[in-house]
Amino acid sequence: MISKKNLYLFLALSVGLTCCTKEKKSAVVPFTPVPPIVETSAIFKNPAATIDERVKDLLKRMILAEKVAQMIQIERSVATENAVKTLNAGSILSAGGSQPNAGNSALAWANQYDMFQDLALKSRLGIPLIYGVDAVHGHNNLQGAVIFPHNIGLGCTRNAALVENAFKVVAEEVAGTGIDWTFAPCIAVARDERWGRTYESFGESPALVSEMGVSAIKGLQGTALTPASILACAKHFVADGATTGGKDQGNAQLDETALRAIHLPAYKAAIDAGVGSIMVSYSSWNSSKMHSHKYLVTDVLKTELGFKGFVISDYQGIDQLPGDYATQVQNSVNAGVDMVMLPFETEKFMSTLQELVTSGRVSQERIDDAVSRILRVKFQLGLFETSFTDRMKTSTIGSANHRTLARECVRQSVVLLKNDNHVLPLNKTDKIHVGGKIADDLGKQCGGWTINWQGGNGKITDGTTILEAIKNTASSSANISFTIDGSNINGGAKVGLVVIGEDPYAEGQGDKQDLSLSAADISAVKKIKEAGIPVVVVLISGRPLILDSILGDADAIIAAWLPGTEGQGIADVLFGNYKPTGKLSFSWPASMSQIPINQGDASYNPLYPYGFGLTYP
Ligand code: BGC
Repeated sequence: MISKKNLYLFLALSVGLTCCTKEKKSAVVPFTPVPPIVETSAIFKNPAATIDERVKDLLKRMILAEKVAQMIQIERSVATENAVKTLNAGSILSAGGSQPNAGNSALAWANQYDMFQDLALKSRLGIPLIYGVDAVHGHNNLQGAVIFPHNIGLGCTRNAALVENAFKVVAEEVAGTGIDWTFAPCIAVARDERWGRTYESFGESPALVSEMGVSAIKGLQGTALTPASILACAKHFVADGATTGGKDQGNAQLDETALRAIHLPAYKAAIDAGVGSIMVSYSSWNSSKMHSHKYLVTDVLKTELGFKGFVISDYQGIDQLPGDYATQVQNSVNAGVDMVMLPFETEKFMSTLQELVTSGRVSQERIDDAVSRILRVKFQLGLFETSFTDRMKTSTIGSANHRTLARECVRQSVVLLKNDNHVLPLNKTDKIHVGGKIADDLGKQCGGWTINWQGGNGKITDGTTILEAIKNTASSSANISFTIDGSNINGGAKVGLVVIGEDPYAEGQGDKQDLSLSAADISAVKKIKEAGIPVVVVLISGRPLILDSILGDADAIIAAWLPGTEGQGIADVLFGNYKPTGKLSFSWPASMSQIPINQGDASYNPLYPYGFGLTYP
């Protein structure tokens, strides 16, 4: 079985990647789809019929194997002609870092999408596939796409309209490559900063996560699911941010009252906003795995909250359930999982689920319900009518307008934590010495889920580093110097600026017991301080870090989170072209022993409270 880690390695080898850089493949020949032969008289083919009529008509024409095939999602790398055309698999995904064989360009993505869709439309019934990616902060698998701040930063903007516009841009860039669906937004309410997915959370407050989650859904889908929508996916249901110790895929130990008060509201809000899909969490609730949790997935989510879209499992999520494979499939499907992100063992799953139906362990009604939910969304998205990439949108990917909006998000996400003696804003004519390992590193500035699953270092895509942005903004006489370790300070430098923090990571690889700064980061701050000039620290991180080692030396501190490709937004704040407005989306712990720390705790004494953020006079 290929694990996610191994898929990443396999893809890296197969496309000639060495960690983060890749060989360019030869030019891509545009793909011309061949129109399918359609039986136009069928009700399901008739756009004038209601969606219910179309779903009913199609369902009654499907044999069991075709129904089960609609319930699978397979990885692009195993989407063979047999899987897509003969079996008519319901969905394909590109996992983090999984890029078209022809190269990582928008054209190659669009051609790849159209090629798969063409095969699906040539299947017996011609049911289009739905293609999903993790566009969680931009169309982040795609080279040249604009990369927005991760959710933790967007939460600090407190600007719902801005976040909606950001996700509109994400939708447009995703649509430009044909893709129909993004596994976003993550509406986890992260409650423990040791969790490696804290940055995917809009904040520790259920109200903030609900508001921002709704904005993201509206940006992606619009007010209803239509052919103009990109299907959103609220994830990971439920309480993924509540696991003990912040352990990824761990166990959330809390009573139902707390679960409903903290972790359920964002799902209620997402459903009310019309979210079309929801992904189940790998984690457990009081030791019961969410992937087989019938009470929460069916009784609460579908029946009580009235969710009418479809539920998808997480990547190989059902494989983590106890029991043999048939039991795993049975328990997840009976719990209410409608589509399974397999994403490799197509035939094994298909034969297992068919046998489970034949033997009565999974009912025909459950299958029909799952398939109807999936088909309804496909009809709503207009996939039967407008199946191929809208090439008009391809050319707007990474455009100047999109970058301007992302820059606005960056400016508004930055939180000014400390500003002794008004060292900020910087004077544009002052000599500045810049240090720190992230000052001129676009990959680190973007974080995980950028080009590769775990992110990467250096110039992994198009964008502006913070150092470049500083040089663009300071006057030419300012004489900006730069050393990573903060040494060789420019004679006459009036101020030092150090950009430090976390290296990229995603999911469990980011789980950490110690959120202290590295020795190299502390030393870079110290070296500049020892030169006798004020030090401004720009912290790049997926969560609050423990600052005690630099608090005494840093005159000013800016939390810039994982801002993405538009480093210019940071310079806008540093030089006062934009007065900081960001407010913390998380309580900032003073020490590791304070974690977990959340507003409303009985004894609450953070370094900076939830909602904190300074500005300039
Ligand atoms: C993650 C999901 C993601 C999926 C597909 C999983 O490992 O938990 O958030 O959507 O992979 O890439």
